[in-house]
Amino acid sequence: MATAASPHSLMLKTPSTAAAAGARTAFPVTTRLPATAPKPISIKCAAATTKVQDPRPPAPAAAQERIFNFAAGPAVLPEKVLLKAQSELYVWRESGMSVMEMSHRGKDFTSIIQKAESDLRALLEIPPEYAVLFLQGGATTQFAAVPLNLCHPDDSVDYIVTGSWGDKAFKEAQKYCKAKVVWSGKAEKYTKIPSFEDVQQDPDAKFLHICANETIHGVEFKDYPVPKNKGGILVADMSSNFCSKPVDVSKFGVIYAGAQKNVGPSGVTIVIIRKDLIGNAQGITPVMLDYKIQAENASLYNTPPCYGIYMCGLVFEDLLEQGGLKEVEKKNKKKAELLYRAFDESKGFYRCPVEPSVRSLMNVPFTLEKSELEAEFIKEAAKEKMVQLKGHRSVGGMRASIYNAMPLAGVEKLVAFMRDFQARHA
Ligand code: PMP
Repeated sequence: MATAASPHSLMLKTPSTAAAAGARTAFPVTTRLPATAPKPISIKCAAATTKVQDPRPPAPAAAQERIFNFAAGPAVLPEKVLLKAQSELYVWRESGMSVMEMSHRGKDFTSIIQKAESDLRALLEIPPEYAVLFLQGGATTQFAAVPLNLCHPDDSVDYIVTGSWGDKAFKEAQKYCKAKVVWSGKAEKYTKIPSFEDVQQDPDAKFLHICANETIHGVEFKDYPVPKNKGGILVADMSSNFCSKPVDVSKFGVIYAGAQKNVGPSGVTIVIIRKDLIGNAQGITPVMLDYKIQAENASLYNTPPCYGIYMCGLVFEDLLEQGGLKEVEKKNKKKAELLYRAFDESKGFYRCPVEPSVRSLMNVPFTLEKSELEAEFIKEAAKEKMVQLKGHRSVGGMRASIYNAMPLAGVEKLVAFMRDFQARHA
């Protein structure tokens, strides 16, 4: 048993009866968490006289032992949120059970999902004429769900393809409607975003689709094309930059995001949709992907990813506490500028292939002039506790993903390491 002297130990306080050992309400327990953690949980019980063994394993390693994780995913979440989730994992507040165990239709989970939605609405200033859905299946499922909900097999739709994810979305849409690529950056290895006037949109298209941030290629839309289709419908996959900066939701018909990366565990999928676009699903649309059915059932038609939604809620709360998305964007810009500047000042030792005006604040791909040193770079960085810097298998090189949860200190450390590595290998 860990002792109370350790900041990460579990401490039994005021010994209780052995009654119903194993039942979570049978003994009073105070969980000691690292200093950065929110309030410890305390479970009280009246009949308490005998010491019992706490069935829980000791808390995991200290927060300060965490490494800097530059992974592109599945999820990179703030330390504060992980610690809070850890403290609430066993028993959520007065419920006596974990969020994972509670009924998704009970009052406790209802309060969790409703708060998550209202905090997200506050963060993104989502207008009332938009519905928010918490679904599952990841953004890949939305590649199909969007055409299945917004158009019929004979309808045409336009895709601007600025990277592999936009390409995957287009290929999936082809199964359900007449999808067309109206601009592709493939010939230039997905390093650009077109000037919007150069894109020949189909006025009869049902929607125009973009991927707001290409996670693999590091290309990010800084503003958005105006859809020229009759309905004026722009659809965006925001999986890898969701909640990283303010977004004018009113410019979009649909925003969807596999909520991992910035806001929760993989699987949770958030859809923000203009309400008048709901209710046009093709007959073959699976019920759990039917926006109308999910909207009518407050995302609870089938069992939602309860724990994932709870985690998203913790992240939204944290982002609001940070001062909202304007403040979050400022931090993200500072980190990204530091890193991109380091490439530009390296006199070609480090190279970023992406056109400067559309470089992502979230995913930063780069290569070494001497490509034979790349494996060494990644290995040495890992020894310095900076991990997951290998580029995506389809493009090679390196990639530093610097989501909301990456502290400035992580980027500063990477930049210092890059300078040192260059000095030793120039
Ligand atoms: N779109 C983008 C931009 C992504 O980064 C990803 C995942 N990395 C996806 C879609 C697919 O998401 P999922 O794996 O959750 O289906």
